Amino acid sequence: LKDSEYKIGIDIGGTNTSLGLVDTNGRCVKKMDFSTSANKNIEEFISKLVASIHEICMIDAHEVQPVGIGIAAPAAQYRAGLIQNPANLLWGTINIADLLKRQVDLPITVINDSNAVALGELKYGLARGMKNFVAITLGTGLGAGVVVNGELVNGANGFAGELGHIIVEPNGRKCGCKRRGCVETYVSATGVCRTAFELMANELDPSKLRGWTYSNLTAKAVYDLAVEGDTLARKTFEITGEIFGKMLASTAVSFDPEAIILSGGLVHAGEFLLKPTLKSFNENVIGSLRGKVAIFPSQFSDSEAAILGASSMIDIAEAVSTE
Ligand SMILES: [Zn+2]
Repeated sequence: LKDSEYKIGIDIGGTNTSLGLVDTNGRCVKKMDFSTSANKNIEEFISKLVASIHEICMIDAHEVQPVGIGIAAPAAQYRAGLIQNPANLLWGTINIADLLKRQVDLPITVINDSNAVALGELKYGLARGMKNFVAITLGTGLGAGVVVNGELVNGANGFAGELGHIIVEPNGRKCGCKRRGCVETYVSATGVCRTAFELMANELDPSKLRGWTYSNLTAKAVYDLAVEGDTLARKTFEITGEIFGKMLASTAVSFDPEAIILSGGLVHAGEFLLKPTLKSFNENVIGSLRGKVAIFPSQFSDSEAAILGASSMIDIAEAVSTE
């Protein structure tokens, strides 16, 4: 391959930052990760990122020159290149495009991480050829990217598709957005832990969950106990799936999508989550859409869809840095 045929996709997450060197066929030919949270200030993070960009471009002792860099990040604003004070990053509001541009002479585009996932699915994933679909990422929160008539929906202010903040429970759990009852306080890795503790308080069943402290429990631990047959752990996923299915039924009437594609750490819970979700969806979806919306997990491994989607922005976007 010629150098001009490579792009770099970067997915900045609260825990890890992943980089991928992407070829013209949308294949991630090389991938790297480093800890986001270990870089306490933004200067440290940018240095680490620049070093990683050089490293990922080294192929057979030769540094390739990619055509550009696409960055996916939480609370990212596409036009401005900003990352706006997201809850799970440490640096407040930063202009990631400007900061990186000082050290790397390449066009840089920035996109919201959930939208990057949707683009990755649209261009290279299971949504290829679809005109209407929703990609949902279940991680620390619930992110979504919505594609209608073949295009990503941004809305008047760039907030379209923030489905994690649909209120599903009046006076429900407090959310990071400062309101109560948002679906991501129930349907996310943190939501699963909150539900597990609610069940422990309300039920008397013996459970290994009771050995965990609130600050140490993870959705993965709840999953491992569900596999062992722990009643409360299984019930936790049933409750999560029931709420998720209702939310997806509302998503279905909002956009009439061909498919809803699920990704993110919580999807690793597999049938424990998927089965009650589909059951609840089928019970709650409007009759005219029953059987018309396919709901399935992504084929991509973690962060791959975001990397591919972000890198694909280089084709269609005028680089933020040149605006
Ligand atoms: Zn919220």
